[in-house]
Amino acid sequence: MEVLPNFRLACTDGDARASICYRYNVVVSSQSVHQVASADFPTRWGKFRIFGFRDTAGKEEAVALVMGDVRSVPPLVRIHSQCLTGDVFGSLRCDCRQQLEMALAMIAEQGAGVLIYEQQEGRGIGLMAKLQAYELQDAGLDTVEANERLGFEADLRAFALPAGILKTLGVSKVRLLSNNPDKVAALERGGIEVVERVPCEVTPSSHAEDYLKTKKEKMGHLFSR
Ligand SMILES: [Zn+2]
Repeated sequence: MEVLPNFRLACTDGDARASICYRYNVVVSSQSVHQVASADFPTRWGKFRIFGFRDTAGKEEAVALVMGDVRSVPPLVRIHSQCLTGDVFGSLRCDCRQQLEMALAMIAEQGAGVLIYEQQEGRGIGLMAKLQAYELQDAGLDTVEANERLGFEADLRAFALPAGILKTLGVSKVRLLSNNPDKVAALERGGIEVVERVPCEVTPSSHAEDYLKTKKEKMGHLFSR
């Protein structure tokens, strides 16, 4: 597995990402969470413990699957955003389910790690709007154009909750499984040190090629292919 060195996103005035960085800063620094539940959770990848978390404002909820010792050394961490169409129905329009399964398999292989599952369907726009975006994509728009046509930013996620969850779990340094540099930057602003970014690349179906091309070209996701 290729492991890239510590990755930091420059966030300066004039940077096209500056407004996003600013939003992350504001949100991340004020976020705190509390644990709602914790239970044994056997899966086909192995035995996890499942945690329920809610932010203190009571607005956002997320689940964390935790395996093994995640405190002694920086654990493998994946932050996955809910994708009903991909995760449950096996949609080939995106690579979400493949990434989810790859992350769980890699954590199980290491014997330790955390998967945080955030309820942010369609990069935060919600399920119905995501289906409308699919309709627009069928008419020729790409995923970013479709979101913007519907009045949303390309990516509404703030990644504030995950930093709070990791702190609550006693994790301050992580090896982040992600192709998204914004996630690395946002976690670091939340006080979590990303010691490595570990690529989470799957072989996509032909249906998802355009979607992944847009993620790479317009959203700065890093793919080796
Ligand atoms: Zn998806």
